[in-house]
Amino acid sequence: MSYNPFENAQTQFNKVADMIGLEQGARELLREPMKEFHFTIPVKMDDGSTKVFKAFRIQHNSARGPAKGGLRFHPHETADTVRALSMWMTWKCAVVDIPLGGGKGGIVCDPRVMSQGEQERMCRGFIRQSFALLGPNIDVPAPDVMSNGQHMLWMMDEYETLAGSHNPGVITGKPVGSGGSLGRTEATGYGVIYTLQELLDAEKVNIKNTSASIQGFGNVGEYAAKLYTELGGKVTAISCYHAADKTAYTYRKKAGCNVEELCGIKDSFGSIDKDKAKALGYEVLPGDAWLAEEVDILIPAALENQITPAVFPNISKKVRIILEAANGPTTPDCDPLIQERGILLIPDFLCNAGGVTCSYFEQVQCNMNYFWSREEALDKLKRAMVNAFRAVYDLARQRNVYMRDAAYMIAIERVSSAAKLRGWI
Ligand code: GLU
Repeated sequence: MSYNPFENAQTQFNKVADMIGLEQGARELLREPMKEFHFTIPVKMDDGSTKVFKAFRIQHNSARGPAKGGLRFHPHETADTVRALSMWMTWKCAVVDIPLGGGKGGIVCDPRVMSQGEQERMCRGFIRQSFALLGPNIDVPAPDVMSNGQHMLWMMDEYETLAGSHNPGVITGKPVGSGGSLGRTEATGYGVIYTLQELLDAEKVNIKNTSASIQGFGNVGEYAAKLYTELGGKVTAISCYHAADKTAYTYRKKAGCNVEELCGIKDSFGSIDKDKAKALGYEVLPGDAWLAEEVDILIPAALENQITPAVFPNISKKVRIILEAANGPTTPDCDPLIQERGILLIPDFLCNAGGVTCSYFEQVQCNMNYFWSREEALDKLKRAMVNAFRAVYDLARQRNVYMRDAAYMIAIERVSSAAKLRGWI
């Protein structure tokens, strides 16, 4: 069975719209993106040829503030994936209560096989094609799958060149010292673990007695694994894509993975070196083995549609918690199965909201041209994540609903009230 992320996002939304009796106007407005742009980017490649990349920027809703959200680089990017991701960004900003709307972009490309020069020209080309759609008060991109701080900086530079003025708030996730915020690199992964820590406290479980298996070792998986193990948790398996073999593997050490050691043998896209891992004593298993690990916590930190009814029976009965560090890792038809087993799931747009929250701090710092210490940024981040988690957890308990539905209730209510106050509905 194949899943369409946009249909998934709409199914999740429709379910909660029914639960809360959302009025028709709000339903129609919020179930579609308000604006979308499709364009092509011609890029001169190193061999002298011209390659034309397809790109999208989609703004789902801006009732609460400028559209905000990442820009993905992926060979399989589709308009529907970006539509779904832009919608999830609206809910993400609303659930952590930051004054931003939801947007997302994508370029159909594979940066793993492009030179630095080709990547730079593609980033600059993206801005040239989308200049009028972006701006600190319009729509603010950030890194996402396979895009990074260097890409953001090239884009900022191109934007400022076209604008003829400094506009560091046009894009976030920039390198520190070039308009970036301390703490932003680790913010998404750390945010995942801040919500976990709150959940464990509420459930009276000591993190030191827990184990986890992770899918994805990019920016999010890496920092989630780092903070989780620092706090005393044990990661027994990490699954990630192997670019050369064009397949994923699960790297397992039952006694516990050494996250620092694995970081030392991965590339910037999160591919672990298989031979070096073997030499360090890791078992190398098929890519989907991470899901069947006998652990307390599963952390999908890669792409959409990974936890489906087809693979659900493989999940160990020991699993008590799923942390959706990725966007859209669980399909809507799997939610009832997760609920039936009593697994506590922290939904994506709450669990991984740390990145955009720190992006918001980055914009605030850029606007002031005054930058905070790492401690200050992470302190504010933790407070925002803890407050958002508690509101969702408490509502889920009070109303006896799934945490995903509770998070949607809060987010939809905030966005639809803002749209109503503006007179849109
Ligand atoms: N791409 C990240 C996300 O999906 C971060 C977005 C941002 O910082 O704007 O939440």
